[in-house]
Formats: sequence, C-alpha cells, structure tokens
Amino acid sequence: MLNIVLFGPPGAGKGTVAKKVAQQENLVHLSTGDMLREEIERGSALGKEAGQLIAQGHLVPDEVVIAMVREFVKRAMPCNGFIFDGFPRTTEQAKELDAIMATQGTAITMMIALEVSEDEIIRRMLNRAAIEGRPDDTISVIRKRIATYHEKIKTTGDYYKLQNKYYTVDSSFTPENTLQQILLIVKR
Ligand code: ADP
Repeated sequence: MLNIVLFGPPGAGKGTVAKKVAQQENLVHLSTGDMLREEIERGSALGKEAGQLIAQGHLVPDEVVIAMVREFVKRAMPCNGFIFDGFPRTTEQAKELDAIMATQGTAITMMIALEVSEDEIIRRMLNRAAIEGRPDDTISVIRKRIATYHEKIKTTGDYYKLQNKYYTVDSSFTPENTLQQILLIVKR
C-alpha cells in the first residue's frame, strides 16, 4: 500500500492537492477537517463540541479525531492506500496512526510537507473566505490557526523526520505545480 501523510500550515492547499493525488494514485482521501465539518452540519454532539473549538482556531481533542480516523480506515479497507489530509497534527495522533496502520498490516510510507510563506497563506485564506465562506477563515481566526500550527502542530513533522520519511514540497505556486512535485517524490 501507499500511505501518504500530507502536512502543512492552514491554507497551504492540502485539501485541493490531496484530492488530486488520491485520483492519480487511486488512494482513499481522508480529511479530518472535512469529517469534522460534516459532524457540525449534522448537528451531532461531537459536531457541537468540535464546532466551538474550530471557530476559535483551536485543535479538536486527540481522542476525538483518532476515533474518527480509526473507524474510517477500518471501513475503507481493503484499498490501495490512503492520503491523510490534516491528520496527524500532534505526535500523539502520529503514534496512534502508526498503530491503526499496523492493525491493517501496513504502515505510513511518507510524510509530504507543503511549504508556503505566511503572507501567501493569509492571502489564500482570505480569498477562500470570500468564495466558500468557511466560518474559521476570518483574519483573527486565521492568525490563531497559524499560531496553533507553530505552537502545536509543526513539531509533528519531526516524528517522520526521525524515521527518514519526511519530504518537503514548495507549495507557493499553482496546485498543478504542487501536484507534479508530489508525484515526482511518490514515483521515486
Ligand atoms: P486547515 O488546514 O486550513 O486548518 P482543516 O480543514 O484541515 O483546515 O481543519 C480545520 C480545523 O479542524 C482545524 O483548525 C482544527 O480545529 C480541526 N482539525 C482538523 N483536523 C484536526 C486534527 N487532526 N486534530 C485536531 N483538530 C483538527
């Protein structure tokens, strides 16, 4: 199986690119952000709790997202592989993902980290806010999400660096350009 963790700050373009990689490589796309937004829309208890945290730019508790991912992976099997988008965001989540993969007799192949400047991130997210109207795409919540990324999320990359599974891609150009860079790494 090919199991990719797609990583990067909010606004780096993970969602757009993950869908394209999933299509090209016949992988199952798993986005914890999308799953949480579905729960919010459904008005479930989980959605209500998550909604408040997301609206403030905080992370949702590890156990909540881990349980969602565990269930999703089990249901998606058997498959060619996964592209994880927005997960793991903490070392705890990364460890649990390894355990989840191990129970399916497989492992994470690589992490691909999208790199893009902070100015470009803010520009893209404000642009998206005008189009999609995501409630967490306001300037103050964007700033908080970027701060959360630097405080809590960024070090998750170290977990994969230590295993020599960490690759970076410059995501400051078009989604197509990012996609081609990723496919080069995957094919290598
Ligand atoms: P972005 O990468 O632009 O922040 P996402 O759609 O991936 O967008 O996530 C939106 C929000 O959902 C995050 O700010 C966070 O509150 C929550 N979230 C998503 N994935 C996770 C996760 N793996 N762990 C904790 N919270 C998460």
